[in-house]
Amino acid sequence: IIAVAAATVMTIGLAACSSGESDTGGGDSLGSVGISMPTRSLERWINDGEGLKAQLEDAGYSADLQYADDKADTQISQIQNQIASGVDVLVIAAIDGELLAPVLADAKAQDISVIAYDRLINGTPDVDYYATFDNYKVGQLQGEFIETQLGLADGAGPFNLEPFAGSPDDNNAKFFFSGAWDVLLPYVENGQLVVPSGKSPASNDDWASIGILGWKSDSAQSELDNRIASFYTGGDKIDVVLSPNDSLAQGIAASLRSAGYTADGDWPLLTGQDGDKASVTNILAGEQSMTVWKDTRELGKVVFGFVEAILNGEEPEINDTETYDNGEKVVPSFLIAPEVVVKDDVQSKLIDSGFLKASDVGL
Ligand code: BGC
Repeated sequence: IIAVAAATVMTIGLAACSSGESDTGGGDSLGSVGISMPTRSLERWINDGEGLKAQLEDAGYSADLQYADDKADTQISQIQNQIASGVDVLVIAAIDGELLAPVLADAKAQDISVIAYDRLINGTPDVDYYATFDNYKVGQLQGEFIETQLGLADGAGPFNLEPFAGSPDDNNAKFFFSGAWDVLLPYVENGQLVVPSGKSPASNDDWASIGILGWKSDSAQSELDNRIASFYTGGDKIDVVLSPNDSLAQGIAASLRSAGYTADGDWPLLTGQDGDKASVTNILAGEQSMTVWKDTRELGKVVFGFVEAILNGEEPEINDTETYDNGEKVVPSFLIAPEVVVKDDVQSKLIDSGFLKASDVGL
């Protein structure tokens, strides 16, 4: 074992020394990886991108990390540049999962392997693997949290619900919504949950009608401002808001604050996802009820394993071959389990694990 370990260290050491460059594709490292992330505006993507890049570079690969400011055309040209620079593998968290087929055809023509990161890429045979969290489960955990907190299974209600969904161009958003709505819709149908705004999809397939384009906090805020101004005029109160993620939950919390809701009074249940610093701060302040935590470091490890296997000519480990049909193929996937974090778990789950620093969330 010691000999093997020493040999490994030597290989990595040599590769690192001989790789005269670290940031550009190509070079003579163990292999080069182009990482394409959607935006720096949501913390998780900064952690995702920088964590994966560091892990790859520490192991002797070169990595080029690009952020596309949530603009699909910018992402396409960044990927084109990575292809031109001769990367071996592309890791892509798509902004618009429907628009990448042509650029991925170029990648395939150059024998570049393509890994869809967190979000599926649709309508193309040229995506090899998909690594993500169990997106349906994320929504299911949000729905079940609401069900339990309100005592819906015991017949409690009626409660006023305002549902939100994620960005219509993000393949994950429909999974998040379906997971939650499969739990909640029966209670809407039997009247235990009432949606005063009427923004209540009749089925999972109608989710995009309440989707917030680009996952923007500001848009979620103004959407809830409008719902409150139009449908809560007679002193009615919102009891619960289904938010698919933390960026929307932050906008929703801002709207609730300006409408006069208070954390120690009538603040509604409010869900989220990601474990974003601002949302965890809100959780500690009683202004968000939970977040579905996705430890993005685990996703980085899975993708790192994919890259290593691909570059060694081996089959990456996958655990799902059924769920993610992109219209051209069922993409072999590895799904990681997400978990609920509430106020009492912040220290033990998020801080003790090193995911966040106490000072990030005012502790
Ligand atoms: C990710 C979420 C994230 C959202 C907005 C989704 O595809 O899975 O973690 O909150 O995009 O960036």
